[in-house]
Amino acid sequence: MKECNTTCPYCGVGCGVRAEVEGAKVIKVVGDGDHPANAGRLCVKGTALAETLGDEGRLLHPQLAGERVSWNHAIDTIATKIRQTIETHGPESIAMYLSGQLLSEDYYVANKLMKGFLGSANVDTNSRLCMSSAVAAHKRAFGEDIVPCTYADLDTCDLLVMVGSNAAWTHPVVYQRIVAAKKDNPDKRIVVIDPRRTATCDIADLHLQIKPGSDAYVFSGLLNHLQNNSAIDEEYVARHTRGLPDTLAAIGDLDMDTVAESCGLDPIELNRFYSWYANTDRTVTMFSQGVKQSATGTDKCNAIINCHLATGRIGKSGAGPFSITGQPNAMGGREVGGLANQLAAHMDFSPAEIDRVQRFWEAPDMIDAPGLKAVDLFQAAADGKIKFLWIMATNPAVSLPDSDMVKRALERCEFVVVSDCTEQTDTATHADLLLPAAPWGEKDGTVTNSERVISRQRKLVAPTGEARPDWQIITDVAQRLGLKQYFDYPNPAAVFREHAALSGFENEGSRAFDIGALAQLSDEEYANMEPIRWPVRTNDDDSEPLADGRFYTADGRAKIVPLVPELPQAQNDITVNTGRLRDQWHSMTRTGRVPRLSQHRDFFSISVNPEDAAKAGLVEGDLAQLENSLGMVRGLVMLDPGIARGQSFIPIHWSEQFSTLGKVSQLIPAVTDPVSGQPQSKFSCANIAAV
Ligand code: SF4
Repeated sequence: MKECNTTCPYCGVGCGVRAEVEGAKVIKVVGDGDHPANAGRLCVKGTALAETLGDEGRLLHPQLAGERVSWNHAIDTIATKIRQTIETHGPESIAMYLSGQLLSEDYYVANKLMKGFLGSANVDTNSRLCMSSAVAAHKRAFGEDIVPCTYADLDTCDLLVMVGSNAAWTHPVVYQRIVAAKKDNPDKRIVVIDPRRTATCDIADLHLQIKPGSDAYVFSGLLNHLQNNSAIDEEYVARHTRGLPDTLAAIGDLDMDTVAESCGLDPIELNRFYSWYANTDRTVTMFSQGVKQSATGTDKCNAIINCHLATGRIGKSGAGPFSITGQPNAMGGREVGGLANQLAAHMDFSPAEIDRVQRFWEAPDMIDAPGLKAVDLFQAAADGKIKFLWIMATNPAVSLPDSDMVKRALERCEFVVVSDCTEQTDTATHADLLLPAAPWGEKDGTVTNSERVISRQRKLVAPTGEARPDWQIITDVAQRLGLKQYFDYPNPAAVFREHAALSGFENEGSRAFDIGALAQLSDEEYANMEPIRWPVRTNDDDSEPLADGRFYTADGRAKIVPLVPELPQAQNDITVNTGRLRDQWHSMTRTGRVPRLSQHRDFFSISVNPEDAAKAGLVEGDLAQLENSLGMVRGLVMLDPGIARGQSFIPIHWSEQFSTLGKVSQLIPAVTDPVSGQPQSKFSCANIAAV
């Protein structure tokens, strides 16, 4: 038996895992007691990892039009299709859709091929659905996509504000850490701001049950309150920020009663929160998908960040705005330029940075403008503008909004490649070419978690069937396109070294994302690499970003962003909120294989307030349907007094592979935030009725 340290592939907490491997089988996983993210803890999904491995349901061989083909033939086919499509329709007619499940090495090679050598920036990722509003807000405020907190800040803060986060279910190990910190320091106050009363509220001193989508009102009103109660850190604001007067002017006279009424809150409870915030120096605001998955997600994130900048509560222990990412490598994807509006190493589309990346890569076909963001990319495919689409490690037929539009997009493309470890998914049924990709436990690489810690995922067993790691598949295609000299990677360590070197290339402190010191790792050092938080600079400056009050903007100051809060308008009986269940992950292609993970809930549920259910003639366990102009889903009614009147909650996990009752994305319109492009997955409207 051998033991091997690796990282959990599910969520942005990024827990370290110790796997016991006997022969070709992972027999057990336990938490890695030495990993900074979890110190030995795992949630139920993490503990079931060994049970998700094996041959069942796996895609074992490349398949072209449903027939098994050799890898050689598959790679040839892709190279030929890419060449032909570019020759006939131009580079913008090809696209890749990636995933926060990919490792940074996979992501890096895909972005380099598309943005530097095929001349198309149409390479986006399902991380767009997860945290792109936080990325956009960080860039607007800090000049760079920096997360200015670590998990240790959750321990040391005296006030923790959790917004749009049911961490008890979605980031369980972080939640357990918060519970432990509260036990150690009973004076620590916890405020939960969420339209639902969730399991996370069990540790809350105060739950503000806001109307859906009203978060920016709460925080704009808070900024006004801080100003009116002399709680602004005038010295910090004067030295390190700009924009506060404009922001206060934009907010106007948003008084507490107006905020309370707009958000559906008790003014006394709102006042309690505002007083706690005004009087607690060590405050962390942890925010998640409930804030970001919104048509005004970027503004909401900036409304939160504004309050931290105005009080100087950032860049120091126990203080800061902390975006928790959903996916295991959403952060790593950002580092390598996994979004269509980013370049690698946090670089932007300024002429200087395009030139810098182009020179580093020696790229002949460097793009000069951002590409299409996820929803726009699939809309372009539905409109016939994208002809060749390569989807990796994700299931957009289930997860993107307006699933009918996504289906049209997949049907209209001339050629669709799907790389996945699972043979049958809603997306795979539309593929012309299916490629067996190596999943967790069968490949090597790195991921970055929510607190900027880069950890190794390690190969535990040999790939099943003919599965290959994604970085290798992309490299093979690049080489078949005649690009061997630029894509000559013998292993993922070589990819990582290049990625690290690019982050330090001509980067004399101009960007926080710098892991240049890791560019010299030998293969052996990469194999044994311990978790490490960026920046990791060659000049030994390992200070936390923002600790010195310097931001990555032209004048070194952060921007307090003026914004006017808006409320989404309900158009049907019931507003629909969506999210994860405690024991499932994404479209259940992995967690659905473990019977014990279904014991928590094994049916598609529609949770509603008991009074709304009674009004619709429904009781617990009835089959009901939610319907709007886009589509309809059916599920079993769950009565939940923690859901306010006029609202409902449905889980995101069910797909056509697991249910004939429909999928959430059939109800979600393709409405996106205009700044970030993140879809409004947390707010839709529908009518409810008995079936
Ligand atoms: Fe995995 Fe997230 Fe659970 Fe940790 S909290 S074990 S990273 S799913």
